[in-house]
Amino acid sequence: MDALRAVDPAVADAIAQEQRRQSSTIELIASENFTSAAVMEAAGSVLTNKYAEGYPGKRYYGGCEYVDIVESLARDRARQIFGADHANVQPHSGSQANMAAMLAVLKPGDRIVGMSLQEGGHLTHGFGINFSGRLFDAHFYGVDPKTERIDYDAVRRIAHEVKPHLIIAGASAYPRVIDFARFREIADEVGAVLMADIAHIAGIIAVGLHPTSVGAAQITTTTTHKTLRGPRGGMILCDAEYAEAIDRTVFPGTQGGPLLHIIAGKAVALHEAMQPAFREYIERVLENARVLAETLQAEGFRLVSGGTDNHLMLVDLTEIGISGRKAERLLDAVGITVNKNTIPGDPRPPAQASGIRLGTPAMTTRGFGPDEMRQTGRWIAAVLRAPDDEALADRVRHEVAEMAAHFPVPGLESAAPVA
Ligand code: PLP
Repeated sequence: MDALRAVDPAVADAIAQEQRRQSSTIELIASENFTSAAVMEAAGSVLTNKYAEGYPGKRYYGGCEYVDIVESLARDRARQIFGADHANVQPHSGSQANMAAMLAVLKPGDRIVGMSLQEGGHLTHGFGINFSGRLFDAHFYGVDPKTERIDYDAVRRIAHEVKPHLIIAGASAYPRVIDFARFREIADEVGAVLMADIAHIAGIIAVGLHPTSVGAAQITTTTTHKTLRGPRGGMILCDAEYAEAIDRTVFPGTQGGPLLHIIAGKAVALHEAMQPAFREYIERVLENARVLAETLQAEGFRLVSGGTDNHLMLVDLTEIGISGRKAERLLDAVGITVNKNTIPGDPRPPAQASGIRLGTPAMTTRGFGPDEMRQTGRWIAAVLRAPDDEALADRVRHEVAEMAAHFPVPGLESAAPVA
């Protein structure tokens, strides 16, 4: 950071503050994680200097011999981990991956069916002001109001009514297993292509602890920065027959030069994901989620669908009478970072919401186990049940910072703990 501090102290200061924030708080945002120091080194490397439009062996620029090695490693590792015919590692983000995947098989005005944002879907699955809702005729499925799990009979009914060109299976806030094979049966019945968006659960699928979408869906998209624990970015996996269309739609269809420094980070993260330690990590993520869920339930909180099968859970705050927004603020104030989230059938608007979403991937990376998760659940319960108790908030803030300091952020192990 010496060069940065000399050139631009304002940015250096902001980064130092963010390091301090990350080190001293408990991070429960389900879509976040802490990459390894190795991933950050690759992502912060000289590869950011290189233009490489095209693909390995077929570039529009000279001097690509080394970045070709990097991109080929990332592609091969992705194919190997997920058992996919083809991988494109160039999408700059999960949204870009979805945009390219959709434009590879759809034209403007085509019909799509995705999970509604309100019930756990993502903006790129057809939301009105997103490209997906503006370019395509979007229809939605959701969860069964009683079980709060995906209502596959309703998916089938909607698919037969709408006759979509594409069905999207995948979610940002769904705590249960997704039955991709069942989605494929429905897609086949109506002649739709199935796209699975595994952004949240990619790491779980990578180690075989969630049924894979690859093979069930013709096209799978993902982010690389959530449970997969890579740098911020996207990736597309697909059957051989879609490979050419996907590659053409990523470049030159929707992007220019690839971010080779980020692709290097993806390659490193994928290498890490192939090691036995990554499977153990994901096992701990799932165990920690179960423990946090049970703790909150024991404290009297209702969880959407009654629990979790994966790395996240949705806490329904209706009974305690505070909004998700207020809960997010109260927890932020004691150093526990979460996000407000709508729950199925939520009477509040999304900016208020009646729930919070909690996930365990990030703190599990830092070494949290069941004991720390139980303690975190008790802190959350205490703070949300006594929103006006400032003495309690002070005490919890202090205890949170103390515990967080014992579980350093990768790459910052030698930094002084901050209370
Ligand atoms: N798809 C799903 C299911 C997601 O949860 C997200 C991000 O939260 C995305 C796509 C988009 O990823 P990005 O934020 O990288 O555009």
